[in-house]
Amino acid sequence: MSRLRIAIQKSGRLSDKSLDLLKRSGLEFSRSKDKLFWYGKDFPVDLLLVRNDDIPRMLLDGVCDLGIVGENIAYEVMLEREATSELECLKLLGFGQCHLSIAVPESLSIENSSELQGKRIATSYPALTRHLLARKGITMQISELSGSVEIAPSLGTADAIADLVSTGTTLRANHLVELEVLYQSQAALYRRSEKLSVDKQLLMDQLLARIDGVLQARKSKYVMLHAPRSAVTKIAALLPGVENPSIMPLEGTQNLVAVHAVCAEGVFWEHLEALKAAGASAILVLPVEKMLA
Ligand code: ATP
Repeated sequence: MSRLRIAIQKSGRLSDKSLDLLKRSGLEFSRSKDKLFWYGKDFPVDLLLVRNDDIPRMLLDGVCDLGIVGENIAYEVMLEREATSELECLKLLGFGQCHLSIAVPESLSIENSSELQGKRIATSYPALTRHLLARKGITMQISELSGSVEIAPSLGTADAIADLVSTGTTLRANHLVELEVLYQSQAALYRRSEKLSVDKQLLMDQLLARIDGVLQARKSKYVMLHAPRSAVTKIAALLPGVENPSIMPLEGTQNLVAVHAVCAEGVFWEHLEALKAAGASAILVLPVEKMLA
């Protein structure tokens, strides 16, 4: 019987959330802490725990069928291998958000990336940086570093850096300012673009439907409230991302009904305040654990 192999980061920024997503999708693994291969117990999907940048390489080499990795690394490896159409992004996963930005020392009064033409830039993402700069018509000397890119300008080995930024704290601590965002990235699920056998494709479709359910459930909330019959239309229109709420009579009341609905978008305090102002009471907002359309 066919089995699918999915690669995730062994330890790092994406590891916990990748594993959590797979577990929430109903996958369970027999694992041993240091082993790189975890066997899927009830569902025929096995896990490979590897270095982040090995994930797209393993996908391209046919070592695994699926991989969870930042878009930045998938793009970098595809450019490095000149294989930009060989990996397919199946789903954006909503975590690991960051951007690849050009940053320069705050002491230099550079305001536009075009002023960096011909200068030196340090990065851990040489192929992606070269590609994105070329799109802007900028050519720079690229110095590849595997880490601590942010200290290159103060060491005098680069005039600028292209690095991943999420909060900007590292840049500020190193007296660098963000000049321009080159690329926005988040964790995504990838597969090789080539056709799979029928049974592997079926397995993949089943897993994708479960992952979709988890992602959708994460965004959704179940809302219950009481409302005067006369206000139901107005109140239903205020529920974010709801098409058909359930309206039920409330035992012992003439004018009140219960309204239940799954909100496909975030439910914020502003929504609750607007619902209350429209006549709703006893408003409850509950998390949704699983969904299958
Ligand atoms: P590994 O340690 O597995 O070889 P790594 O050093 O690239 O890889 P992490 O620093 O954990 O691993 O980053 C993994 C991914 O997390 C990045 O490729 C990127 O997609 C995402 N990410 C999110 N925010 C940041 C950030 N501030 N800095 C770096 N990566 C980030």
